[in-house]
Amino acid sequence: MTSSVKHNLESIQTKIEQACLKSNRDAQSVQLIAVTKAVSVERTQESVDAGILHLGENRPEGFLEKVSNVKGEITWHYIGSLQTRKVKDVLPSIDVLHSLDRLSLANEIQKRATTTIDCFVQVNVSGEASKHGVAPDALHSFIKEIGNYPSIRIIGLMTMAPLTEDTAIVRDVFQKLKQLQVEIHDLAISYAPCTETSMGMSGDFEIAIEEGATYIRIGTSLVGE
Ligand SMILES: *Cc1c(COP(=O)(O)O)cnc(C)c1O
Repeated sequence: MTSSVKHNLESIQTKIEQACLKSNRDAQSVQLIAVTKAVSVERTQESVDAGILHLGENRPEGFLEKVSNVKGEITWHYIGSLQTRKVKDVLPSIDVLHSLDRLSLANEIQKRATTTIDCFVQVNVSGEASKHGVAPDALHSFIKEIGNYPSIRIIGLMTMAPLTEDTAIVRDVFQKLKQLQVEIHDLAISYAPCTETSMGMSGDFEIAIEEGATYIRIGTSLVGE
């Protein structure tokens, strides 16, 4: 039997608190996002009813289905790679975009936006060919270019760690993202406050919290596969 979201949430909250204690952080500084891409509208509604008001989806179809059918005061996070031609469909419902990774996407967002859009720049810290994201070397110039798109506000950086049992590799990726976030923040660019880091999933969120994650994105261990 699948366990209830409420039950899973309690266990994850305990782990969040432990990771915060270990790294001398306030648990309030970690925002949990339930990634509902693999589950039904009903299971997603169960998450909201359990008190999780931040939801993440990674495909336009799933995103729009949940936006239309799930009820509550929800903050909608779009966490997947976003095709330029899909921007017009999803942008009106996006509260936070976690996957800004190219200027053509910034350009399309600028064209369609009717308000300021809070974005994370996705960074390919691990350098894996399979992963989206701006290369760390190219990040500073990318952030500068975003100044040409006044509807975009860069609230932070996002990354995905490699799928590996080697926690040292995972930790290194999160440390590097945190370092880059602080670098960009310290530039004090008006459109790029860059105070946040979106990192950590079911398998690695405790390491991410220890390394400073302010948004963690959890699917499998919270809502199921
Ligand atoms: C699926 C997904 C997650 C959640 O992964 P789990 O391992 O199921 O917790 C987080 N972030 C992104 C970008 C995803 O696509």
